[in-house]
Amino acid sequence: MKKSGYLFPMEHEMPDMKIHTYPDAVLKSTAEPIKNIDENLQKIIDQMFKTMYAAPGIGLAANQVGLLKRLIVFDGSPRDDEPSPHVLINPEIIVGEGSIKWDEACLSVPDYTADVIRNSRVQVKGLDRHGKPLDLEAEGLLAVCLQHEIDHLNGILFIDRISSLKRALYKKKIKKKEKKDAGK
Ligand code: ZN
Repeated sequence: MKKSGYLFPMEHEMPDMKIHTYPDAVLKSTAEPIKNIDENLQKIIDQMFKTMYAAPGIGLAANQVGLLKRLIVFDGSPRDDEPSPHVLINPEIIVGEGSIKWDEACLSVPDYTADVIRNSRVQVKGLDRHGKPLDLEAEGLLAVCLQHEIDHLNGILFIDRISSLKRALYKKKIKKKEKKDAGK
């Protein structure tokens, strides 16, 4: 889901953040609510956008870059459309309804996708990057993306929502790869 050639405009020049991957403990941890919306947070948000677009991904939660803060960035606009960067601070799902099956992938779970069943429509509230309250309604891909990213803040990965058999197979694959990499 690449936004081809898109460079996120930033006020601050900075390197990409490191994306933590399974089984890193930070992905299993619960993020803390954000109390101070300050200059430092603006830098983190810009850096997360840059990292997300470079990956490329359509969503990124702070846990994935090693920060236990309740913060997500996302862009659910179709591939060839203009980019539409969004931030949610302290996001909360207040309504979830319907059901949808989506083949999900995650920057923290490399080389793997699986069908996950989620709500097809959600209403989410939170704050924008300046602390203004936001109320968002989403369906389809954007609804899936919001549920996936908010799960990250609660230490949940999409592989925690698939069958235990499928998850066991994925873990086996990772172990094999780790062994192979260690042997290099
Ligand atoms: Zn993810």
